[in-house]
Amino acid sequence: MKVASVLIPLPVPEAFDYEVPEAVALARGDQVAVPLGPRLIRGVVAEVRETTGSNRRLKAVEQVLDDPRLPERTVDFVEWAARWTLSAPGEMAAAALKGLRAPRPRPERRVRRVGERSPAKLTAARAAVLEALGPRSMPGPDLARAAGVSSGVVKGLVDEGVLEVVEIEAVAAFDPPDPDHAPASLNPDQAAAADAIAEAVTGGGFAPFLLDGVTGSGKTEAYLEAAARTLKTDPAAQVLILLPEIALTQALIERIAARFGAAPAEWHSGVAPPKRRQVWEAVQAGRCNIVVGARSALFLPFVNLRLLVVDEEHDGSFKQEEGLVYHGRDLAVARGRIEAATVVLASATPSLETLWNAHQGRYGWLKLAARHGAAVLPQISLLDLRQAPPDPQTWLSQPLREAIGETLARGEQTLLFLNRRGYAPVVLCRACGHRMTAPDTDSWLVEHRYTGRLVCHLTGFSMVRPKLCPSCGAEDSLVSVGPGVERVEEEVRQLFPEARTAVFSSDTAPDGKSARALIQTMAEGGIDILVATQAAAKGHNFPHLTLVGVVDADLGLRGGDLRAAERTFQLLTQATGRAGRADKPGRAVLQTWTPEHPVLMALAAGDRDAFVEAEMAEREAASLPPYGRLAALILSGENAAAVDKVARELAGSIPNAERLEVYGPADAPLALVRGRRRKRLLVRADRDVDLQGFLRAWLARVKIPASVRLNVDVDPYSFL
Ligand SMILES: [Zn+2]
Repeated sequence: MKVASVLIPLPVPEAFDYEVPEAVALARGDQVAVPLGPRLIRGVVAEVRETTGSNRRLKAVEQVLDDPRLPERTVDFVEWAARWTLSAPGEMAAAALKGLRAPRPRPERRVRRVGERSPAKLTAARAAVLEALGPRSMPGPDLARAAGVSSGVVKGLVDEGVLEVVEIEAVAAFDPPDPDHAPASLNPDQAAAADAIAEAVTGGGFAPFLLDGVTGSGKTEAYLEAAARTLKTDPAAQVLILLPEIALTQALIERIAARFGAAPAEWHSGVAPPKRRQVWEAVQAGRCNIVVGARSALFLPFVNLRLLVVDEEHDGSFKQEEGLVYHGRDLAVARGRIEAATVVLASATPSLETLWNAHQGRYGWLKLAARHGAAVLPQISLLDLRQAPPDPQTWLSQPLREAIGETLARGEQTLLFLNRRGYAPVVLCRACGHRMTAPDTDSWLVEHRYTGRLVCHLTGFSMVRPKLCPSCGAEDSLVSVGPGVERVEEEVRQLFPEARTAVFSSDTAPDGKSARALIQTMAEGGIDILVATQAAAKGHNFPHLTLVGVVDADLGLRGGDLRAAERTFQLLTQATGRAGRADKPGRAVLQTWTPEHPVLMALAAGDRDAFVEAEMAEREAASLPPYGRLAALILSGENAAAVDKVARELAGSIPNAERLEVYGPADAPLALVRGRRRKRLLVRADRDVDLQGFLRAWLARVKIPASVRLNVDVDPYSFL
């Protein structure tokens, strides 16, 4: 008897077995309908094997669906990713099928001539229609426009049977990229990097690289050149480029279109589902060569993936924390290994994990030192707020104000960077000290002046700012404490009423379209002073920007988690690197109360190596990543007692293990979210410990009731 293991989109740790009927031929990756209880459910065949009798009766596969088969290596990847993240393999498989679940694009309705039939009465308008149409087919409205007539004329010809309406199935055509369309001229560093990557691709086999170069050093040209040479040697090759932010995709798509004479496919949550389905099908059929996308593009069914680029690899946005918990960069490296492909991790400020791998010789290390074109790196200075404190209830000190004024007078642009949305991060009562929090979450409410509401950034809860303190009832006693971007912009407008100012945050640019519009206005010089969160610190090119002011350089350093210093260094490097990209030298001013902090000193000295060395030494001393590994178990539920009970049971059944410690259970840093209690256990292990194996053995010992949810986060990034 033949048995198929089928991955089903349910939170179960294994595939389910089904009997394969005699007449049915099945292969790994096939999509099937299988019975589960009273219903049929879609699954992916993980394995087909021959068995000699079994003591349990298996249900049979009901039907082989005629949807495309998942390529073998895509199934390998799905199974590996599930094991690595301790996720249900069926749910990982569902992630790989997501594009296929979208509706097909509606077929396009076009009109065409029926044979040589002519209308009974040939008016001038009708003649114009037939002339414009010729032997082709066209959408009716387009035809009417081309002929310069009303759509009624076209409809009349259809009614008379001279024209007919046909429905054309929309099959997305992805024009093949032309590697020779418009090659960039590369400097020697870029050429050497492109050579190394292209040689690795041609040589075949898994080859990971760190492409390491300061902002504006031309990393994109280098990896696009490598992609071009990949496509030259193998026109069927597929290239995937991952970006951390949807807002960055449009600029890259335009560059690729200019370089290759054909636009790449685009894949992220902002792409309409029918369009995503077309991309999925084209990738699976090998009809699409270059895909630009967000981390979820990793799950596309590539058939000939040769080159995988993770741009801005250090960016925390690659970590997905809702639903399936995974790090896009780590999974990209794994996918590259499974596909025997070349992987390029590109960054101006690589993550410590990636630098460590490069140091160990596990990744090839390609350095771009020279800056492309005439631009020079900005001069970075620390502004000691103890020497020049801002006036009460203002946030910009006098020296920074003067620098902004000078920049404005020269007709150049300023970016003020503050990684805090809204108007004020805390609202509290002057009378009793009560801090405004959301009713079912213990994070503080952030005041938003544009909308006049208090908003929880964690859950999205919002309320009108109350007149009375909800705790003591005092009237007009609530005060806004500290600045967000909106408040800094208010100060800027008072100081420079003639300047054109704007705020760039996820509130003012909530989607890709509005972000692009704002970026374009800034790039074209339509804004003098932009006050921005980290949304603006990533990869944009603003040629007239010559001053970056960091309002609170200490902000990230107060985060209290393992990567706080690293993240601050990366973010501030990216933000300050925005200044002076074209022919104008730039400068960056960092306001700080702690100019002696090693992170800020390294930043001011432009000394990444010094920062990395100091930070690595601290991590090594504590055996933290990249010298050790972490995993978090987050328990949550509405019933606090049930959550506590499971947490205690877990703590009481830790398997014996060496070179590994478990901390907790403790309240998670946000102990209450959407009315759910949260407890956390944290595991630290030496690098060579089988962390996943330990977690599996541990979790097998405890039965978790349905009322408590367990989230496993391997290599956690956020400590919320
Ligand atoms: Zn009060």
